Amino acid sequence: MEARLRQADKMQALGTMAGGVAHDFNNLLTAILGSLQLAERRLVGEQPALQRLLRNAGMAAERGSALTRRLLAFSRQNELALRAVPVNGLILGMDDLLARSLGGPTDGLVTIRRELGAAPDTAVVDPGQLELALLNLCINARDAMPSGGTITLSTEAVRVAADSVPDLPAGDYVRVTVADSGVGMTPEVLARVCEPFFTTKEVGKGTGLGLPMVYGLVQQCGGGMTIESAPGAGTTVSLYLPRGGAEAPRSPGQSGEPPVARR
Ligand code: ADP
Repeated sequence: MEARLRQADKMQALGTMAGGVAHDFNNLLTAILGSLQLAERRLVGEQPALQRLLRNAGMAAERGSALTRRLLAFSRQNELALRAVPVNGLILGMDDLLARSLGGPTDGLVTIRRELGAAPDTAVVDPGQLELALLNLCINARDAMPSGGTITLSTEAVRVAADSVPDLPAGDYVRVTVADSGVGMTPEVLARVCEPFFTTKEVGKGTGLGLPMVYGLVQQCGGGMTIESAPGAGTTVSLYLPRGGAEAPRSPGQSGEPPVARR
């Protein structure tokens, strides 16, 4: 329990720092991007080699900007807006977002399957952050399947007995599972995936903040996460979200306004 609290403190400090840095850095990148675009426009029809260099610099700045957005999302976790969320509905509403975000390297070879359990499926969680967490898990799943495969998103209302899931108190949860048929992880990688900034992806592609963000979210909601993975056998990430009725929002100090999805 103590280790869990220390991890939560560390994540909070990291989040605050990351948010501050990301905010200022994003302003600088916006200025850099603007100047590059202006310079490129002035060169229309001339100096193709120089134009290429400017385009490369622009692409690097855009990647930097995407990274700062992820850092900002990571830091916003300190301000969770917990409320009763119909998890199946939230997943059904992610179709467009997933289609847009998962295109790319796998050229449409990734299939998403849904196995949504019957009600009750209402969990107490921040809906915008949950959506971001599931998106992160699906992106990881896609990245683990370079030649395509299936991502299965499933939900189930479960009763967890004491000590049956590590670090998770006994109780009623909605279990949301994201499973892939990808490359899987070695035990060494698996042991480190929740460390902030741990990534095996190439520079500019991975930030190492996806799984720490997901883990931080479920912990702050009073839930838990398990990951099963082995090389060649795919990966299954299960989120345990505390079940809650459709009553009033439970977040201290938060308004009852409808959730705003942050993308
Ligand atoms: P990032 O995706 O930016 O690397 P994450 O924290 O989301 O950051 O993931 C950390 C690392 O965990 C990844 O670089 C990868 O090595 C491993 N990983 C995460 N999800 C999967 C998965 N579904 N299949 C295989 N490896 C994974």
